[in-house]
Amino acid sequence: IPDRIREHARAEPQRPALLDAPEAGGQRMSYAELDQFMDRVAASLQRDGVQPGEAIAVCASSSVTYAAVFLGALRAGVVVAPLAPGSTPQALAGMLGDAQARLLFLDAAAQATVADAGQGRVTRIALDGSDAGQPLTDWLAPAGHPVQAVALQPAWPFNIIYSSGTTGTPKGIVQSHGMRAAHVNRGAVYGYGPRSLTLLSTPLYSNTTLVVFFPTLAFGGTVLLMPKFDAGAYLRLAQDHHMTHTMLVPVQYQRLMAHPAFEAHDLSHTAVKFCTSAPFHADLKADVLKRWPGGLVEFYGMTEGGGTCILEAHLHPDKLHTVGRPAETHDIRLIDEQGVEVAPGEAGEVVGHSAGMMTGYHGQPEKTREAEWFAPDGKRFIRTGDIGRFDADGFLTLFDRKKDMIISGGFNIYPSDLEALLREHPAVAEAAVVGVPSVAWGETPVAFVVARPGQALAADALRDWLNARVGKTQRLSDLTWVDELPRSAIGKVLKRELRDAYGAAAA
Ligand code: ATP
Ligand code: MG
Repeated sequence: IPDRIREHARAEPQRPALLDAPEAGGQRMSYAELDQFMDRVAASLQRDGVQPGEAIAVCASSSVTYAAVFLGALRAGVVVAPLAPGSTPQALAGMLGDAQARLLFLDAAAQATVADAGQGRVTRIALDGSDAGQPLTDWLAPAGHPVQAVALQPAWPFNIIYSSGTTGTPKGIVQSHGMRAAHVNRGAVYGYGPRSLTLLSTPLYSNTTLVVFFPTLAFGGTVLLMPKFDAGAYLRLAQDHHMTHTMLVPVQYQRLMAHPAFEAHDLSHTAVKFCTSAPFHADLKADVLKRWPGGLVEFYGMTEGGGTCILEAHLHPDKLHTVGRPAETHDIRLIDEQGVEVAPGEAGEVVGHSAGMMTGYHGQPEKTREAEWFAPDGKRFIRTGDIGRFDADGFLTLFDRKKDMIISGGFNIYPSDLEALLREHPAVAEAAVVGVPSVAWGETPVAFVVARPGQALAADALRDWLNARVGKTQRLSDLTWVDELPRSAIGKVLKRELRDAYGAAAA
């Protein structure tokens, strides 16, 4: 990727590579400027004695400077660990230690979370001119400072990405240069090119963002970064910059489609919009297809890279309830509790194999073993913890994460079934069902529901409405209206927070 950026800088130096949204200062870098900046970063790391294979960490909101530091480190063969500024200080200290980063690039907003993590061991450099660390401008070697060329090898680590921490402590996943290159090459089918403009409002520490960020630059396009999503601002930027590509998580699609000015914006340059990371309901996909020009492509996968499913929704309007079919060369199978492959048409835990899957969690052999599954012929797969089922055409429907399944009186309850039914009620905008401990049943389902604007209904009435529609074992014990569902920064519903909050309220 660093080499391809250099090629673009030579071919068309003035072409814009990176742009910040106007709200974020509107900084821009052409390919020539980016290429030179990357050299300065690489030279500075070499001056500081950071070796290829060693790590640096970045904890900041998305910006042109952040992206350029990331890319510059790659040129020196240095591994980048982008960390979530929204983490707890303990989680951050854990990730910083795990990555064994020598340098930490941060901004003023991240300073509070980082607190004293790594103090004394890790040199801090402020990306934004704040007093969060040594100013970047002082640290950076001057333009033209000699850089030792590093021949990047496919097997070398590229970055350490931490999983979202949806189900527990984030796990460090090392991705190699070869794995990233494979991703980028697959991106060719989505039409990235010198005239493409990719608008990204999800954070740079998430694979969700990076799977679109790197291909855009590798094909010479422009990336426009929004540090914070806002539906109105997004629509304006997409229109004014003639956006061609974008990545959004389902809750962002929901906000955009519900925005009163959606129709008033011209989004006709859109070639492909992507989605991944959380359940994307069929009715929302249908609404996006109807009202937003261009293709809609959903990815299902995990940071671990076991296997990816792809749904080209615009080509398969009858498969919107699925996450599509396995990507070419990816092997995805379903297994039961005993680790045996299920019969065709049955549900099971999704396991995946791909050339680009992780070799293991960083520094966690125990967790790695738990995540592995071996086929009878010895082929290695990564367990996803998700339950799914293939239809006769090979499209995968996802149900719930195994950890979210409810076992009540010996019966399995899929929360997603109950959530789908609840969403059919006109008063319901969103619903999340979780299992809570029950003396009589072991576990019992309870629901948290967000109302549609202007709708009011007693919680008991909605609970009874649902309970009249399901089997006895599936009945909700409780239903609570909430203003919103707790979500991670990348828009995943945090069911463990709902379970904890319910437990605390009941105690
Ligand atoms: P952690 O592993 O730390 O608990 P996480 O699993 O949320 O967090 P990621 O690797 O970011 O971390 O996310 C992968 C998971 O996201 C998948 O296992 C799946 O549950 C969910 N997911 C990804 N894509 C989709 C999709 N298209 N539809 C539904 N769920 C998805
Ligand atoms: Mg996971």
